[in-house]
Amino acid sequence: MFNIILFGPPGSGKGTQATSIEEKYDLHHISTGDLFRHELKNNTDIGKKIQKYLDSGQLVPDEITILMLKNKILSYSNPNGFLLDGFPRNIAQAEALLELFKSLKSDVHLLVSLDVPEEEIVARILNRGKTSGRTDDNDESVIRGRYKVYEEVTDPVFDYFHSMNKASKVNGIGTIDEIFGRVVEVIDKHVGKE
Ligand code: ADP
Repeated sequence: MFNIILFGPPGSGKGTQATSIEEKYDLHHISTGDLFRHELKNNTDIGKKIQKYLDSGQLVPDEITILMLKNKILSYSNPNGFLLDGFPRNIAQAEALLELFKSLKSDVHLLVSLDVPEEEIVARILNRGKTSGRTDDNDESVIRGRYKVYEEVTDPVFDYFHSMNKASKVNGIGTIDEIFGRVVEVIDKHVGKE
């Protein structure tokens, strides 16, 4: 199994890049944001519990998020690997993920972070909000709040994996193809090292 974390602030282009990466490396793309939005749309028990967090841009509590992610990963038999997008978003989630992969005799092999500054993030998400239908994409204060959560709680996850020599930053400004090229370069360099 080959497992990659696609990392970066909200609106940094993780979902866009994930589509090309999962295809090139034959990975299962798992986006916790997409999983949560699916629960909301279907008005499930989880959906009812998480609505307020998604609307306000706060993190959903770990006990809900980690269980959902674990169940999703364990639902695949014989996976080639996973591309995680939007998870882990804090250190407790990172630890839970490492433990889960360890129990599967695997590991987190690489974290790739898309580097995009706050002003660009706010502009991109407001623009996405015109068509995404996401209420959390339409309100500048919610967007800035999400960025703040990222800086305070999520960004330390980069250092956590960096200290294990498993994290790389990629410039997230440019065309979709340019950024994909940078991501591929980082992944291939890392695979060569394995
Ligand atoms: P974005 O990257 O634009 O913030 P996501 O789709 O990744 O969008 O996440 C949307 C929302 O889903 C987050 O603001 C948060 O409320 C919730 N969420 C997603 N992933 C996690 C996670 N790993 N832990 C807690 N909450 C999460």
